[in-house]
Amino acid sequence: MKNFIRTVFIILLVLSVLCGCAGKEAESPALEWKWEADHSGHWKIYENGEKSDFGEHDFNEISVCTVCGIESIEWNNGIISINAFDEEKNVTFSKNYKNGEIISEYEKTYNEDGTERLIYSSEINPDGLKMITEYDESGRSVKEQFFYPDGTPHHESVYEYANPDGGKSFERYTDYEEKRIFEYGYDEKGDWISYTVYRLDTGSFVSGQTFEYEYDSEGRKICQRTFEKDDLREEIFFGYYEDAEGIHCYRSKYIYYIIEDFIKGHYTVTEYNKDGEEISRESYDSLGNKIG
Ligand SMILES: [Zn+2]
Repeated sequence: MKNFIRTVFIILLVLSVLCGCAGKEAESPALEWKWEADHSGHWKIYENGEKSDFGEHDFNEISVCTVCGIESIEWNNGIISINAFDEEKNVTFSKNYKNGEIISEYEKTYNEDGTERLIYSSEINPDGLKMITEYDESGRSVKEQFFYPDGTPHHESVYEYANPDGGKSFERYTDYEEKRIFEYGYDEKGDWISYTVYRLDTGSFVSGQTFEYEYDSEGRKICQRTFEKDDLREEIFFGYYEDAEGIHCYRSKYIYYIIEDFIKGHYTVTEYNKDGEEISRESYDSLGNKIG
């Protein structure tokens, strides 16, 4: 019995030493934390992702929780909104619930001039798909993800921009149903310069095209050329005409080149009037001799 008591005492001593060490580690350095909340309660979230201090909201007379500082509003249609605020009383986070299920959420920040800017949003679109959007520092969408109600991904787009104010320079569209990845490169005018398709499962190349454009002295596009690998596949020529409503662009000529081996170099030229009607179509061999 004496031995048993001594053994227990030693075990307790060891435990207390271990706990003491663990306690010291937990104390320093102090982890940063902030309140997180949903419609039913709040908790602390630490920078390492750990959560603690779960509790119910304690709302004051203006529906602001005295512990975490969020505001809760119950609307006539049954939707409950919760809003979190920064020091300037600007909304930094909104979540909207219906029947306990989250239906939309928005994370916001504020520019130096006080204008609001989205960082993140999540909404249900009219097709019933959940759409999650992430934004860059200019407020432009950089990633859009679409999910079925069960969480299965439907499709996703990732965007890149050439400069802080410009339009997009690149887009990667992943279609989880077609199991294909489509990549688009854009020039400064917003026109495609490349289009490439890959298989989603293996990442292997399926097909691809590159594009070149020609402009007149007034900066109007007069020709678009499409290449497959290094071969010219098609040329589209644009014409312009003016009427009482202004200047209009139309496709005046289309040339399609055969790039497959057996009749490589053969091409067909189709010309159109400004109403889009075909006015001629001729086929040529690789030496420019008319065929048929
Ligand atoms: Zn609270």
